[in-house]
Amino acid sequence: MMKKNENNNSAAGGAPTPAPKERPRIKPPEIRPRAPMPPSNRSAAMPAHTPRPAQQSPRAAQRPPQRPGVRPGQSFARPQSHPQHGGSNPGSSGGSREEREARREYRHGPGAPRAAGTQLQHSKMGPRPQIARDPNEKPNPDAVRLVPLGGLEEIGRNCSFLEYKNEIVIIDMGLQFPEEETPGIDYIIPNVEYLEKKKQNIAAIILTHGHYDHIGALPHVLARIGNPPIYATSITKAIIEKRADDFPNAPKMNVQLVKDGDEIKLSNNFTALFFGVPHTIPETTGVMMKTPIGNIVHFADFRLEYDDEGNVHGLEEFEKLGKMGVHTFMVDSTAAERTGHSISEKTVERNLEEIFRAAEGRIAVATFSSLITRIAEIIKIAEKIGRKVALNGYSMKTNIQIAQNLGFVKAKEGTLISVEEISKYKDDKVLILTTGAQGESNAGLMKIINGEHRHIKIKPGDTFVLSSSVIPGNERSVQTVKDNLARQGAIVYHSALVDIHSSGHAPKDDIALIIKLLKPKFLMPIHGYYFMRAANGMTARESGVAKDNVRLMDNGQIAELTKDSFKVTKETVPAYYVMVDGLGVGDVEEVVLRDRRALAAEGMLVIILTVDRDKGRLLKNPDIISRGFIYLKDNQEVLDEIRKRIRGLMTRIPNFKEVEPDYVKTLLRDQIGQYLYTKTKRRPMILPVVIEI
Ligand SMILES: [Zn+2]
Ligand SMILES: [Zn+2]
Repeated sequence: MMKKNENNNSAAGGAPTPAPKERPRIKPPEIRPRAPMPPSNRSAAMPAHTPRPAQQSPRAAQRPPQRPGVRPGQSFARPQSHPQHGGSNPGSSGGSREEREARREYRHGPGAPRAAGTQLQHSKMGPRPQIARDPNEKPNPDAVRLVPLGGLEEIGRNCSFLEYKNEIVIIDMGLQFPEEETPGIDYIIPNVEYLEKKKQNIAAIILTHGHYDHIGALPHVLARIGNPPIYATSITKAIIEKRADDFPNAPKMNVQLVKDGDEIKLSNNFTALFFGVPHTIPETTGVMMKTPIGNIVHFADFRLEYDDEGNVHGLEEFEKLGKMGVHTFMVDSTAAERTGHSISEKTVERNLEEIFRAAEGRIAVATFSSLITRIAEIIKIAEKIGRKVALNGYSMKTNIQIAQNLGFVKAKEGTLISVEEISKYKDDKVLILTTGAQGESNAGLMKIINGEHRHIKIKPGDTFVLSSSVIPGNERSVQTVKDNLARQGAIVYHSALVDIHSSGHAPKDDIALIIKLLKPKFLMPIHGYYFMRAANGMTARESGVAKDNVRLMDNGQIAELTKDSFKVTKETVPAYYVMVDGLGVGDVEEVVLRDRRALAAEGMLVIILTVDRDKGRLLKNPDIISRGFIYLKDNQEVLDEIRKRIRGLMTRIPNFKEVEPDYVKTLLRDQIGQYLYTKTKRRPMILPVVIEI
């Protein structure tokens, strides 16, 4: 996304200056009174010269085409990744920036392995990957098919399914927050094209927990896959039902409540045994799928729980699973590269309490609203040290409400207060829980920092605690948060200083422990980039899984499982990105994305002509606005030349004829576009607006 105010300038008296928006919107200001802009205007907004088609290496095919407007050697600022992760971010931490860079390198580099048939869904041209069977390979009708639809080449969008004859069971239906190649996209969801065709076979959707990277895509796909029954624990159920309020057109969900220890026959051949795993949201459940070929264990997102003495708890359950026999173990890889064990939540609590007790003024803790386990602890500590807790941020309030209704947050009467009431209490009696630990521009913390919050202003001596890990890509905005807090005199604690965040994902040594208990025949690392999953594969081999029995799949690949084999076939199902940009699924046409990339790379130039309707004369000097293109005040010469050319063009219109706005616009785009390219070697998007009077 373009930074606001960068190159933003207009050069014209009385020009209507469109307010700089968070996202570049394509539509020009609607000013012309007579006829509305033709819809073709959006795509026509591109200059006549079409961008070069992206080079489609097989690997690149899974990504949107590479920045069409960019020429070799030209540098430009990468648009920042979409910051609106909000409090809804599932806390999916994992991988440093370098890892991501390495991964990106890996994705696009030569010799990268075959893409899993992924491609931008909305490119209408180009081949759409379809089920491509090797002619020599016959599907095995007695195998259980295991297909990851998402979560294997990214963090997020977690979704896989099992299929046996005419029965399908889906595990998770998550969303992914986009990286910078998809400007303006809110999020990415799993591709359900294959499932849609077989919707009558879908027996169940199992949801492992209430984080958005596991449940977020539900309202977008439910209708398309025939609204099958959903199996979820109580808090997950409450979260998806709360979210359904925002999607009035989605079908009414049929949610079956499950709890730790339940064994439920989902269809003739699939039975699910649910077992609790520790994570950062209560009632996270793993599932053992009992199938005709053996038991497939999916461990959701998990970590292990340690007490103060460093003893791990709750392993007996997992040991039992191991005794039942595990064919395939699908294991979380988010933190697989980190060595060691999970930090005890007890350590985190103790450190938080110490910081809280030392604070003399108000305390504000910024964290993910989805880290409900942590939030519950913070409220408990606040009560212990005699502070009221004010909740700031929409998702913080709704999540606590849900957790309170279900008894996961047990606040005493009067502990929770509204932010309006803060001023009624002494500073050392107040603790504020807020969203925005990642520096998200629209979250609660940012409003406080910017002085835009109506009830909370930072005072010197306030203590701010950032209790969450920094999601890769957000390092810079978190730094800004810390700087601005410190600048205003606040005392700031963050997890690099002291253990005030424990990851929700098991690191290497914990994973090894579980593998040794489950003794799976095959291991399939899930949740994470290839590198993370490969690390998990290494751990598996060190922990007793046979060398050849680790399966690193790609999204969309089909594996056939028999009693003693796990074969990744050459067959794939569509798994390419489906994007949601707030308008709805599938509304993001390739042309829109292309425009966004062009805007990000080259900027835009708005030309506003006020024309006499009857005579076609210019009534005033053309107004010219540049956004992200050139700084007009420093380029007076260019500006004068543009105006001169516009006047020249207008004289070409016979003055006895009525003005044809579309003709004028096309003329302007071509001619001014040509001129600007010769002059600046850049191709901004040119948006002519003709106002007829
Ligand atoms: Zn997750
Ligand atoms: Zn999670």
